[in-house]
Amino acid sequence: MSDAIVIGAGPNGLVAANILADAGWQVDVLEGRPEPGGAVRSDRAVHADYLHDVFSSFYPLAVASPAIGALGLGEHGLRWSHAPTVLAHPLPDGRCATLHRGTAATCAGLDSAFGGADAEAWQRLSQLWDDLDPHLLRTLFTPFPPVRAGVAMAARLRAAGGLRALRFMTLPVRRLAQEEFTGPGAGLLLAGCALHADLLPEGVGSAAFGWLMAMLGQQVGWPVPVGGAAALTGALVRRLAAVGGRVHCNTEVVEVVVRGGRALGVRTADGQAYRARRAVLADVAAPALYGSLVGWEHLPPRMRADLHRFQWDFSTVKVDWALDGAVPWAAPAAAGAGTVHLGADLDELSDYALQLSTGRLPRHPFALLGQMTTADPSRSPAGTESAWAYTHVPQVIKDDLGPDGITGTWDTREAEAMANRIESQVERFAPGFKDRIVARRVLTPPVFEAWNPNLVGGAINGGTTAPHQQLVFRPVPGTGRPETPVAGLYLASSSAHPGGGVHGACGANAARAALRSHRLLAGRVLAPGLAAAQRLLSGPAERHD
Ligand SMILES: Cc1cc2nc3c(=O)[nH]c(=O)nc-3n(C[C@H](O)[C@H](O)[C@H](O)COP(=O)(O)OP(=O)(O)OC[C@H]3O[C@@H](n4cnc5c(N)ncnc54)[C@H](O)[C@@H]3O)c2cc1C
Repeated sequence: MSDAIVIGAGPNGLVAANILADAGWQVDVLEGRPEPGGAVRSDRAVHADYLHDVFSSFYPLAVASPAIGALGLGEHGLRWSHAPTVLAHPLPDGRCATLHRGTAATCAGLDSAFGGADAEAWQRLSQLWDDLDPHLLRTLFTPFPPVRAGVAMAARLRAAGGLRALRFMTLPVRRLAQEEFTGPGAGLLLAGCALHADLLPEGVGSAAFGWLMAMLGQQVGWPVPVGGAAALTGALVRRLAAVGGRVHCNTEVVEVVVRGGRALGVRTADGQAYRARRAVLADVAAPALYGSLVGWEHLPPRMRADLHRFQWDFSTVKVDWALDGAVPWAAPAAAGAGTVHLGADLDELSDYALQLSTGRLPRHPFALLGQMTTADPSRSPAGTESAWAYTHVPQVIKDDLGPDGITGTWDTREAEAMANRIESQVERFAPGFKDRIVARRVLTPPVFEAWNPNLVGGAINGGTTAPHQQLVFRPVPGTGRPETPVAGLYLASSSAHPGGGVHGACGANAARAALRSHRLLAGRVLAPGLAAAQRLLSGPAERHD
């Protein structure tokens, strides 16, 4: 029997398992898919000479994460690689906004393309980050309420401008761009970063989210693992094995066994039962845990109503390409970037996001494009590029604003039409791009979900990043912590605070909660027993009366 069962070998599950195993627990990770990694995997299925990350690619959050940093994955073979430029946002007029490691380089780029005033404004925003670092990330990565980290953060916030700094945290990125910048470039950098989550340029908090991603890029880059995303998973798995943990693939969990309000273990699709002496940690989406793996009869009635209001983030379509040469960007500055954002201007980004929110498939999809060989030369032969781009699509399509009549069945015709639309968006900024394509693969929402059941309907962040489902509202109001209504059961996936991205904080928080609860329980049960044993051993108690 294991001390803990972890359901799912995504990054959160594997970080949780490592922390528990470090504490001396016997841990078994049960993964439904044939290989571990969740949305952190790579393959050569597009073309034998090209390595592609199947889902996620860039890992600033992993590098900045105290939980992943503490695992020392470098000793288990993980090496990072950086593109010359972190991020580029080319404009139709040939100018290009670029983000670099180091504030000075970003400011120099903004200065030459968009003017000194925007460079100065960017410098001020970077200073705010420096003032709050590292307390902001520590506050975000710990469970709510973040008592110790929160106190330090509040003090820093006060010193960094108090209410004005707080106001900044609530701003929509469009408003921030209007207040701070004269040209279009700097605002586009931030708005594009906000659209890594499902945050509209007009959405509350979209400025802060975009700023956080951009500032991380300046501070630690947006690095990729040498040898593909799977190298990060490989390091996590090897480290776990080194401390005695085990990963069992092709082992889908279909039930968390609950008796008397406590999780005792799990049952798998092949009918096996796995007992867990101390805890079950679920690296699964909240709606898959509550009411599915754990029956409603074990949950408070309010949970059902709350889960009914759970909101998924946007769906996704991704295209992976093997290219026989570099992307022929019209704006040369985009050539060295690991990530390129493709959208003509802020209005186009806003239209796109609003169309997604109202169930209409955009004619001009904002796309995030990864130039993986530029970021890590090991991904494909010299002179070629292993590339991908993804865009978001509505979870339910009511109308297609493009010419293809895509309805959301995502059959072969719709998948190919959507891939062509994404390619046309690239072609707008890189004429001749389509001629470089040697092979491609299209991942539609049903494919995402089939390859990883956490990516429900193609959602990539375990639920919306909007403020109404963050912090104490994630995944449902009143939690914000990994504990669940079932004793000994913890939510460890990106559906838990602090949400999507490869930072391992959801898993780390769940593991620490399990350890803490076990210590408390051991204290309550064992302490009286130990005291009695001590009394017995030390003979009759002395009388003091
Ligand atoms: C296309 C795409 C691009 C992304 N890009 C980035 C990026 O560049 N940088 C970044 O930081 N983040 C990115 N993300 C987000 C990031 O990958 C996720 O937030 C992160 O992987 C979440 O980790 P997780 O461990 O919570 O879940 P997952 O990675 O989804 O792993 C969950 C695992 O649990 C398994 N599982 C689920 N249910 C069961 C069950 N019942 N029994 C057994 N196993 C089960 C699944 O098979 C899966 O292996 C991207 C995601 C996608 C899809």
